[in-house]
Amino acid sequence: MNIEKQRYLQGDEKGYWFVSYQGKLWLPDGEIPAGTAADFGFSGLLAQPIGEWQGQTAWLISKEMAKSMNSIRPLLRNTDPSLFYMAGRAVQLSEFYRSHKYCGYCGHEMSISQVEWCCLCHHCHQRYYPQISPSIIVAIRHQNKILLAKHQRHNRENLYTVLAGFTEIGETMEMTVVREVFEETQIKIKNIRYVTSQPWPFPNSMMMAYLAEYESGEITIDNNELVQADWFHYTELPKIPEYGTVARRLIEDTIVLCREYDEHHQA
Ligand SMILES: [Zn+2]
Repeated sequence: MNIEKQRYLQGDEKGYWFVSYQGKLWLPDGEIPAGTAADFGFSGLLAQPIGEWQGQTAWLISKEMAKSMNSIRPLLRNTDPSLFYMAGRAVQLSEFYRSHKYCGYCGHEMSISQVEWCCLCHHCHQRYYPQISPSIIVAIRHQNKILLAKHQRHNRENLYTVLAGFTEIGETMEMTVVREVFEETQIKIKNIRYVTSQPWPFPNSMMMAYLAEYESGEITIDNNELVQADWFHYTELPKIPEYGTVARRLIEDTIVLCREYDEHHQA
């Protein structure tokens, strides 16, 4: 990718300002501020264009503002997902630069590359790129039912969702799907089908989303991860993730398949 260089702001640079620190983004009034660098007192600060959003330059500044430093999660509700993705890019790049000041091999101070998103060690010539962690998320259907689980971390809000997990070293994505489902529920699946992907910047996942069908086994949950898992008829679903999440998309896709199953089996 061709990137633009970091530069010290003169004041007249225009665009959207993604100001990020420690995984948070500056969102005054819940929005990405737009205007000139001088409008916000950013003259003299180091900034980097990280792309374009709504026809204007998206600027990244790594800085903690006194107020309105928030999680970017609410941006998911925006009907245009490109804002969430740009915000994810800003937050992750900012944290990547912050955590790669020194070379892991030789300990020398590094600099930010001016040609790609990476950090360079001028002593041993090592390059470091932002970490992106592949992970899977999968909706499993059995006839007109969908497998939904309540995760330990969602117990309080009583939220049910599909299964997910990180890819391990030396694994294909398909192997990850099969392994994660078996580890968490002890069931076997078949007809694994790729659907879509979603960058998930909490902190740096790339979720690959799949649909699959039940093959065999009884649900036995892994208590370390899950509180409960069960088959739910598609018309009797519990509380599920909000629109905009890939989990919701998979559940909606599965509901369609459940309905089709019923239509074929009513005759
Ligand atoms: Zn080095």
